[in-house]
Amino acid sequence: MKEIGHWINGKMVAGTSGKFADVFNPATGEVQARVALASVAELDAAVADAAIAQVKWGATNPQRRARVMMEMVRLLNRDMDALAEALSSEHGKTIPDAKGDIQRGLEVIEYCIGAPQMLKGEFTDSAGPGIDMYSMRQPLGVAAGITPFNFPAMIPMWKMGPALACGNAFILKPSERAPTVPLMLAALMKEAGLPDGVLQVINGDKVSVDAILDNPTIAGIGFVGSTPIAEYIYGRGCSNGKRVQCFGGAKNHMIIMPDADLDLAADALVGAGYGAAGERCMAISVAVPVGEETANALIEKLIPRIEKLKVGPYTSGNDVDYGPVVTAAAKANILRLVESGVADGAKLVVDGRGFKLQGYEDGFFVGPHLFDHVTTDMEIYRKEIFGPVLSVMRATTYEEALGYAMDNEYGNGTAIYTRDGDTARDFANRINVGMIGINVPIPVPLAYHTFGGWKKSSFGDLNQHGPDSFRFYTRTKTITARWPSGIKEGASLNFKPME
Ligand code: NAD
Repeated sequence: MKEIGHWINGKMVAGTSGKFADVFNPATGEVQARVALASVAELDAAVADAAIAQVKWGATNPQRRARVMMEMVRLLNRDMDALAEALSSEHGKTIPDAKGDIQRGLEVIEYCIGAPQMLKGEFTDSAGPGIDMYSMRQPLGVAAGITPFNFPAMIPMWKMGPALACGNAFILKPSERAPTVPLMLAALMKEAGLPDGVLQVINGDKVSVDAILDNPTIAGIGFVGSTPIAEYIYGRGCSNGKRVQCFGGAKNHMIIMPDADLDLAADALVGAGYGAAGERCMAISVAVPVGEETANALIEKLIPRIEKLKVGPYTSGNDVDYGPVVTAAAKANILRLVESGVADGAKLVVDGRGFKLQGYEDGFFVGPHLFDHVTTDMEIYRKEIFGPVLSVMRATTYEEALGYAMDNEYGNGTAIYTRDGDTARDFANRINVGMIGINVPIPVPLAYHTFGGWKKSSFGDLNQHGPDSFRFYTRTKTITARWPSGIKEGASLNFKPME
């Protein structure tokens, strides 16, 4: 059995804890490897080495650090196929989707080439007599990232790119369900010129996450994953005095107005609802058509599109729209929620429960499901399903539809489909959600903007990537300097303004 270890001090090392987790091929259901789960001692030793390596890296001029990012972009493009293959084999998503995952991470690395500009401080000359005042951005020291299974390339890069470009050492604890690509990224960073020890990839479970939370050397933590874990990490990390940002789960609504182009809306819903088997934090899981006519026409357009979806292994190439979900437990949970939807009285208009794929009977495939007449009290509405299940919740007015999205506890992304500028503008202004699409179903901002939700989808003050990431991974220091120092003022005990 293949064993996956850690990346420590510039090389792969085997785990020493004696604990492992199975890594599946979700298409076949087979265990394809086992990944080491780090102990507290392994994590602490890697952090101690990272702290030593950080001193020199933090003092390296930002342009040289940026050149590592520039070379990393070239290497990612060179190895795109190999990365996508490794990603799909552990996650299950199709190759084009895996390449999108890598590309969206690469774009953040590309953005980090601009680090010298982002890290420039501020300067005021003659802030007082002979006094200059300036502020500089310094790295936190050692930062850590804890990442989910669903974007094994993109989210680690969203974290490591800005953290490293700012001069930090970085400890990455990827998902134990898809550990290979993060390790490949670390090897590419080394090839790009990153000194050993500056990036450590430690595989593990709750034990290593808790070790990160309690390690006094780690100054900042970026987390992405489900909301209960986000809340836990935010609370424990903050109470240990760390800077913490946590991005959690989602229930993303799309409002479809009576004037919308319904073909466009139906295509968008199919892509955003079922792409990556619904395992995206920006997936649309609730469609809210306004008016009975809109709802009926939309359902009519959705059904044939959904029934045409091809579900299969990534190895089938372009013939497949989406692959399996990540584990047998994820599949069981999705199917349990589908049953609860039926029991609660929602109308299952596309029923994927009987889905079977010849030759892949043990794979974690879930057929596409479409529910109509979903209401807010149902479990399928209240829970993040994270599978290929779209719920239609009918509204009679725009205000009612808006209210559903506003009252939902999550606030990651949302979209509206309309031809009316007034309605779109009102929606964008009033909605309490972080990322809004207007006739765009998955409004994931580009690298130079920031990504983050509201409400229970995000904990902490700063978003991911874009300018916020440079703020998150640095600390501001402000210096007041007087040259020459020969000015004699005499002692003053008053707290006085600058003259
Ligand atoms: P998860 O919360 O199970 O795991 C995320 C990370 O936390 C992993 O590294 C895992 O090892 C660790 N972890 C799991 N249980 C833990 C525990 N009890 N204590 C400490 N650490 C623990 O999430 P997942 O299933 O890997 O990913 C899917 C979730 O991530 C979904 O809820 C999805 O919406 C969310 N997500 C959010 C965003 C966003 O930007 N808001 C992006 C992608 C995914």
